Amino acid sequence: MPSLARVSLARMWRRSIQARVVTSTILLSALVVALTGWALLRDVAGGLADDRRTAAISEARSGFDYAQTQLDVSLETEPATQAQTLTQMVDSLTRSRGATRTYELVLEGPLGSSDGQVPVRSSAAIAPGSLPEDLAKAVRSGPGTYWRYSDLSLLGSSDVEPAVVVGSQLRAPGSGDTYALFYLFSLEDQQETLDLVRRALLVGGLAMVLMVGGVAWLVSRQVLDPVRLARRIAERYASGNLEQRMHVSGEDDIARLSTSFNQMAASLQSQIRRLENLSRVQQRFVSDVSHELRTPLTTVHMASEVIFSSRDQMDPQTARSAELLKRELDRFESLLSDLLDLSRFDAGAAELELDPVDFAQVARQAADDPALARAGIKVRLIGTDRPAVVEADVRRVDRIIRNLLANAAKYSGSDLIEIEVAQNDDAVSIAVRDFGVGLSGEESVRVFDRFWRADPARTQGGTGLGLAISREDAALHGGTLQAWGRPGEGSEFILTIPKPGGSARNAPLGSVYA
Ligand code: ADP
Repeated sequence: MPSLARVSLARMWRRSIQARVVTSTILLSALVVALTGWALLRDVAGGLADDRRTAAISEARSGFDYAQTQLDVSLETEPATQAQTLTQMVDSLTRSRGATRTYELVLEGPLGSSDGQVPVRSSAAIAPGSLPEDLAKAVRSGPGTYWRYSDLSLLGSSDVEPAVVVGSQLRAPGSGDTYALFYLFSLEDQQETLDLVRRALLVGGLAMVLMVGGVAWLVSRQVLDPVRLARRIAERYASGNLEQRMHVSGEDDIARLSTSFNQMAASLQSQIRRLENLSRVQQRFVSDVSHELRTPLTTVHMASEVIFSSRDQMDPQTARSAELLKRELDRFESLLSDLLDLSRFDAGAAELELDPVDFAQVARQAADDPALARAGIKVRLIGTDRPAVVEADVRRVDRIIRNLLANAAKYSGSDLIEIEVAQNDDAVSIAVRDFGVGLSGEESVRVFDRFWRADPARTQGGTGLGLAISREDAALHGGTLQAWGRPGEGSEFILTIPKPGGSARNAPLGSVYA
């Protein structure tokens, strides 16, 4: 499921301006807060450490002075007495730190003893490593006061405290011995103060980021709510509810947007109404003209039949005129009936009579048309040995297939036509292929335009409306009729009718040219 969550998150990111505004505000403010906090902490830590170091150095200096005075007055050269003096000195320096333990002491020396072993006295069991090596070396090598930051830990304890170590060399004038005295001041108090500041900054920063996020959410909502409302109204408008208008309140940008939207909607509505009226008048006109022409045409047609049937008694020129008259009247009649069909589609008055239709059987019957055999055309059937049943209007499906076959016979010049039937869970498809003049990419789109013909000179009595009607028939079923082809190779028309609950988009047949 994590991929599902990722997909819905990505979708939310793409679709919601509010999510993007709030997230980027939170991220940016978190970055600013983190940077400010980091700089503040660095300053505070530096300040605390500096103060403590200055105080530590001056405290250590007075300690060094005291110890040096002690050594100056003890002129003893006797090692045992001197050792005693040193121990007393460390004790008294340790005592002077008061009740609270603020520092530890380490006294090394006398330095440079002959056996290499330097005696060490200290106020506590300080772990090796607490004294930085380079500081110890600097102190041992000569006079002067040196300091370093270090980590102080006692033997037997796992606690490690930050510390500042100050060291200086002492000299006993009596014996000429040198000593290294180190003060290790704990920085734990400063560390605690710093932790406190860090916690306060963290909590404050988090609260601030959340607050800024909340403010961004509120502000973006204020701006986006009217935009969302406008979107919903525009959607309803687009789906045909032309009365939809936005509510205008106040004079701000949103109010002005609503006013402009309403003006646009009103102007579009009046244009659409005007065009609808115009188109209704046109449809009515076409339908009325076709109806009105029908009756006189039938009479003229019947008269022409009479003339045509007695053409044997006419001189050749008149007989030819009689043939022409009949052919053109036939064409006129089919044009009128096509126009009537189309005006019914345009008026939304075309109706479906649904029954289970076996496409395999429709294909077999259409292929049996004696006109095809007469024209010397062979029909190859594929997939018609199994039934492929779908709910459809058999009259319309049959009309489509016969039109496709007639077109292939009339226009392609091919003596072989292939019909293939296939089905899947979604739909049933039937393809009609020829191997003649073919169609170019542009032609295969335009063949469905009303009155369009590839080459008017090639037209053999067609009206240019056959495929337009076929496509309307297919659409009435929720299906599709598409054309493909390649000039000089042939063309292919595929009709797809969806099964109940299926979609014509998932057609069982794809074009050989696609
Ligand atoms: P028509 O009534 O003229 O047959 P159609 O709409 O059926 O009208 O066809 C439109 C045009 O498409 C035809 O005039 C023809 O030029 C072209 N056409 C249709 N089918 C084919 C085909 N199988 N091969 C080549 N051209 C075709």
